[in-house]
Amino acid sequence: MEITILGSGGCTVIPKPLCPCDICREARQKGVPYARSGPAVFIHDENLLIDTPAEIGRQLNQNRIDSLQHLMFTHLDPDHVEGIRVVEQIALDFRDWRAYENKRITLLLPEPLDRDIFRLKSFYGSLLDFYQRQGYVKCIPFKHQIKIGEMRILGIPVDRGQQMVFIYVVEKAGRKLVYAPCDIRPFPETRSEVQGAHLLVIQPGIFETGLKHGFTYPKNHISRTTLYTFEQTLALAKRIAAQQVLFVHLEEYWNRGYDDYSAIEREYKDVRFAHDGMRVNL
Ligand SMILES: [Zn+2]
Ligand SMILES: [Zn+2]
Repeated sequence: MEITILGSGGCTVIPKPLCPCDICREARQKGVPYARSGPAVFIHDENLLIDTPAEIGRQLNQNRIDSLQHLMFTHLDPDHVEGIRVVEQIALDFRDWRAYENKRITLLLPEPLDRDIFRLKSFYGSLLDFYQRQGYVKCIPFKHQIKIGEMRILGIPVDRGQQMVFIYVVEKAGRKLVYAPCDIRPFPETRSEVQGAHLLVIQPGIFETGLKHGFTYPKNHISRTTLYTFEQTLALAKRIAAQQVLFVHLEEYWNRGYDDYSAIEREYKDVRFAHDGMRVNL
């Protein structure tokens, strides 16, 4: 299996627009790997994209992706869906506003995302209704798991009350990727399917020290309901016996640059921090 981390950033990009902090200034000066765009991964084996942050068009171009057949979403928070209009940009034939047949994208939707996604709206109503009508996407709902080509994808729900988040377990030829980039607490760690991944792609969670503005998270901070701490995430990865851990969704307010993450990597075995455009074979 071959994947590219199209975007290693979180809900704000680095550099954060207008921000004069050292991390953003360095990112502005040096670009990638210091600069980070929104969360997305591309799985080359089946031309599968997971999530569409605002920067997805640029990410696809910069990584020379020339075919996109399948699209999935981990959840419907803005940082993961706001670039969804890329399906129109890819498939639209301006002569009749319909899709080029060979550019139609198959949208694979686990329940209940297959319903909820139709609530994403523009001024004219449901975006997905429009994309489907014009033929830009073809929606394929599924329960639990779906097979595309040689690849089996299992969607494991994380029930977060008003919002459902999916962790995807992607398996091919005996290799296993667990993709869990955002809002994955409580992680379904008792599920057998998440055990023993060759690669776990996950957010590092809260750093308790060194944050912007000298901030420390109070015990009851809302982020503690969606995120583990960095130490808890490392312990979780160990409990589920992940062979390699790759951290994504790296937030600007954690106040750490590419060099800082490289230094943390040296302290641990089989732990890496992603950067935009990072390609991984597993
Ligand atoms: Zn900044
Ligand atoms: Zn997110």
